[in-house]
Amino acid sequence: MAGRSRIEWTQATWNPVTGCDKVSPGCTYCYAERMARRLHAMGNHRYRNGFRVTLHDDLLTIPLRWKTPHLVFVNSMSDLFHEDVPLPFIQRVFATMCEASQHTFQILTKRTSRLLDVAPYLPWPRNVWVGVSIENDKYIWRADHLRQVPAAVRFLSLEPLLGPVPSLRLDGIDWVIVGGESGPGARPLDPNWVRDVRDRSVAAGVAFFFKQWGGLRRTAAGRLLDGRTWDEFPTTGPRNAAYGAEPRFPHPVRKQAVHKAMVKAYIVRDQTHGTRSVSTVPATSHSGSTHPSREDHLDKVPEPPTTSKDFASRRQT
Ligand code: SF4
Repeated sequence: MAGRSRIEWTQATWNPVTGCDKVSPGCTYCYAERMARRLHAMGNHRYRNGFRVTLHDDLLTIPLRWKTPHLVFVNSMSDLFHEDVPLPFIQRVFATMCEASQHTFQILTKRTSRLLDVAPYLPWPRNVWVGVSIENDKYIWRADHLRQVPAAVRFLSLEPLLGPVPSLRLDGIDWVIVGGESGPGARPLDPNWVRDVRDRSVAAGVAFFFKQWGGLRRTAAGRLLDGRTWDEFPTTGPRNAAYGAEPRFPHPVRKQAVHKAMVKAYIVRDQTHGTRSVSTVPATSHSGSTHPSREDHLDKVPEPPTTSKDFASRRQT
């Protein structure tokens, strides 16, 4: 269930959950569903339920056994925030990520309302990145939800990009990945949609990664955009060196200076409020807007509510 990945922006996958349900047009030709059905047909016991949500307790601690630091994509075959994954299970996934601090974990979801609901009951260590998928302008509200989550790195996966995203704001976002759809039935990707996102990412100092053009065969059309590859990663400190990804920002010094200023702002605000629980203390982002701060708040995770009504009442808006 854990293994090397061919996905360009990660190194390994870890799937303590498999299976999912479709929620929006980006899911139509879901790769995970295709793979799950194939593995089910081959008799793989992990996929005995096909593409139905299945929890794999025995895989929860797998990353603790990997000594070499890796970039790990969590649940490439599912959505961790699917409504059928109970909060205690999600908390166990986070407990492993906290303990396996040698790795950097990447979680990607389309279920951003659930992410918002459970975020206050999870620790947010610096080695956990959270991203949301957006396929066209109709779903940019997922980025608004993401901006409220106190993750060390917030990223957007615009894959498969199915239309332009002129309304998408990049404030509070650290990394943008764009890609076309691949496999049977792949819908076309207009280069101008990609250029628009790239240009706005560069202008905002947001790391930009162009994954692929897509098409029937994933690699056939390549991944050059205007004559070059775009393989930027967010800057998160020493871990980048550990996994060999060179952060390549257009203005690295400026980015570093801004980060230092942000950390200083957190500390000043902490002293003002007399608390280190910065998940409730908004900090000024590099764009000047306010978002939850990203300091770890391991000691401040409250007890989870017991009813869905409680969740709704505690949810950040
Ligand atoms: S949310 Fe992701 S894993 Fe789930 S059906 Fe959609 S594309 Fe597939």
